[in-house]
Amino acid sequence: MPEAHVLVIGAGIVGLSAALALLRDGRRVTVLDPAGPGGILSAGGASAGNAGWLSGASVVPTAYPGMLKAVPGWLMDPLGPLALRWRHLPAAAPWLWRFVRAGRAERIPAQAAALRQLLAPSVASHLALAEAVGGRYLIHRQGALWVYRTEAAFRADAGGAALRRAQGITVEELGADELRQVEPSLGRDIRHARFVAENGHCSDPAGLCRRVAETLVRNGGRILVERAVAIEQCDGRVVAVQTAEGRHPADGLVLAAGAWSAPLAAMLGDAVPLESERGYHLELVQSEVMPRVPIMSGEGKFAVTPMDGRLRLAGTVELAGLAAPPDWRRADLLLRQARSLFPGLPTTIPEQRISRWLGHRPSTPDSLPVIGRSRAAANAILAFGHGHVGFASGPLTGRIAADLIAGRPPPIDLAPFAPGRF
Ligand SMILES: Cc1cc2nc3c(=O)[nH]c(=O)nc-3n(C[C@H](O)[C@H](O)[C@H](O)COP(=O)(O)OP(=O)(O)OC[C@H]3O[C@@H](n4cnc5c(N)ncnc54)[C@H](O)[C@@H]3O)c2cc1C
Repeated sequence: MPEAHVLVIGAGIVGLSAALALLRDGRRVTVLDPAGPGGILSAGGASAGNAGWLSGASVVPTAYPGMLKAVPGWLMDPLGPLALRWRHLPAAAPWLWRFVRAGRAERIPAQAAALRQLLAPSVASHLALAEAVGGRYLIHRQGALWVYRTEAAFRADAGGAALRRAQGITVEELGADELRQVEPSLGRDIRHARFVAENGHCSDPAGLCRRVAETLVRNGGRILVERAVAIEQCDGRVVAVQTAEGRHPADGLVLAAGAWSAPLAAMLGDAVPLESERGYHLELVQSEVMPRVPIMSGEGKFAVTPMDGRLRLAGTVELAGLAAPPDWRRADLLLRQARSLFPGLPTTIPEQRISRWLGHRPSTPDSLPVIGRSRAAANAILAFGHGHVGFASGPLTGRIAADLIAGRPPPIDLAPFAPGRF
């Protein structure tokens, strides 16, 4: 086997899924991650603290015409869903320019179709992964709600709903009474909703990552708590990866370091514009409110997910780079906004029942990940840049990475995800 030993950089959902698929193909696998499986040892990796949505319906790119119009208002509003730390603007400017260009109306249908290919199998591929690692109980298929207080906000999202329908997704519109039946915990002033029955969720993303890591190690894979700092190549092939601890020879490489991937890809010879869309979660233990169904606030643009024993409020986008300290006010904002959805949430909650988290969404300007062979190194696969939908599409991306290493045709058309498209 020419790629007998494959190194995987990054132990988020993408890297772990790739590692398990590679192991199943009979390869030796070593995963490198300074933060351990799922980024559990540090706050940054996105796979542990995300909202857990397995949303085949998330085909609306982040940059789209309606959204771009709302950006100036969001930036002026300290409680808005988007924040930019102005000091980061010079570094982010080239990415933002591409982001604005990616949001042109004529580009949206193709982006939505590409996302649909990747996301339609979200629940099925998570079920398969979870079953393989003894975590079937973590995956649920109860659908998801997008809810709106005002008719104006409901109408403003009609374009998104139309885009979903154009991709064959069934989107039901619910009036106030039907909404109450689907989700009784919402306040009576939440009068408009759309429901997508095919969606699912994972009730413990970090727990799923941990199970995948344990299964990997039990079956002979290695996970080293080390940071990749250099990639050695010879004759257009990766031959080793260096960490502070030493040199790891490799016959193949999967680069799945999430928001940290761009400098490593550049070392290979692949330039990819990547930005961290920082997001927060705030979790309530023993929450007084526990919705049956995951909910997206149409006005606040944040998700509410019933987790195992906890209520997770997750969302907001902050552009501030990988190194800036967290602004926990943005996490607290989620709780304030959630109170306006759920009258059952008390005004004061003891601090011991609250936890906060910051994670880095690895985002490309066109909302499509980079999945494909490196243009410079024939035995290296790039698998990063999944933005808002990487948890849902992680298991499928991992399988595709193993297919590419094996030279098997991937199950979906990878042209929209080509590393060379920028
Ligand atoms: C608030 C929030 C909510 C979200 N909600 C959802 C959701 O509901 N559904 C969904 O599908 N997606 C969601 N996402 C997005 C999703 O979490 C990410 O797209 C996904 O987790 C990315 O996975 P990954 O494996 O590519 O990256 P990560 O999970 O970030 O993993 C990358 C890993 O690489 C490691 N690494 C970095 N540098 C190096 C190096 N030099 N050497 C070795 N390792 C390195 C890091 O430590 C990290 O563990 C959300 C994200 C956020 C922030």
